[in-house]
Amino acid sequence: MIKRRFRFMKHFQSSFYRTAAALAALLALAGAGQAASKLNIVATTQDLAALAREVGGDRITVESIAKGYQDPHFVEAKPSYLLRLMKADLLVAVGLQLEIGWLPPLQTQSRNSKIQVGAPGYLDVSSYCKILEIPAGQITRAMGDVHPMGNPHYWLEPENGRRIVKAIQQKLSEMRPDDAPYFGERYEDFSRRLTDAEKRWDAKMAPYRGRKVITYHRSWPNFSQRFGLDVVDYVEPKPGIPPTPQHTLDVINTMKRQGIKLILVEPYFDLRTPNSIAQQTGGQVLVLLPSVGGVKEVNDYFQLFDYDVNLLTEAFAKAK
Ligand SMILES: [Zn+2]
Repeated sequence: MIKRRFRFMKHFQSSFYRTAAALAALLALAGAGQAASKLNIVATTQDLAALAREVGGDRITVESIAKGYQDPHFVEAKPSYLLRLMKADLLVAVGLQLEIGWLPPLQTQSRNSKIQVGAPGYLDVSSYCKILEIPAGQITRAMGDVHPMGNPHYWLEPENGRRIVKAIQQKLSEMRPDDAPYFGERYEDFSRRLTDAEKRWDAKMAPYRGRKVITYHRSWPNFSQRFGLDVVDYVEPKPGIPPTPQHTLDVINTMKRQGIKLILVEPYFDLRTPNSIAQQTGGQVLVLLPSVGGVKEVNDYFQLFDYDVNLLTEAFAKAK
């Protein structure tokens, strides 16, 4: 029955079948070619992976090493990361020594010449961004300060997000000139959506400009400058140095004196000191996300700012 039907169709539609078969083979070939030619990108953080995805679309695959709920200064170097780096065409990094504790050994051990510092497949996006808190004079990690070259949390400012995407667009276009128009269009689209989102975030934050806060780590200078927060002090005495009793006492006194009620804490820090400060000052601890992936519903750059702006404005509105 099937055979008879096949013969019947073959008789009448042989040319159609030949064309269809040729088309299917072509499509398979094109699909395989496209899949094989996808640029394999490793980003050191989920923020950079999210931004690379914005511009790379379906022409890239991208994975991140540090997860958004981890302290990016201190990441445990797992063997699975090494495997990713061995296969990478491009490594995108935050730089300014953010990854100095874990990335250089992974790069070396990967033996992938494409992604070593100075090679075309290594992109440190800090050089394209506005960097704050650059120390005057000698560069030093004195007393364990983990920000010796300026503040490495600079992605927390939309204009820097835009510059990062632009830098990745230029790099991808160099690596894949045929796809340059595609990357260019995706950059323009991202930039337009970001401009719209910035209006939304500015409008929500506007009533609270100048509000004083304490933060745990120095993660927020770019964010604060952009949205008008006044960060008065930090739970850490220096970036990367755990709280000390004396410094904690100073923070409590500062908060009492200036009527500060909000302590912003990154999701990877111990809450005991912030909670005890809050108790003694009548303040509130707010876990604000410095990175995409800090909680599972925050999957891209826009959701990150939406999340933080909502959390902050709700807390400010309640505090009056
Ligand atoms: Zn830091």
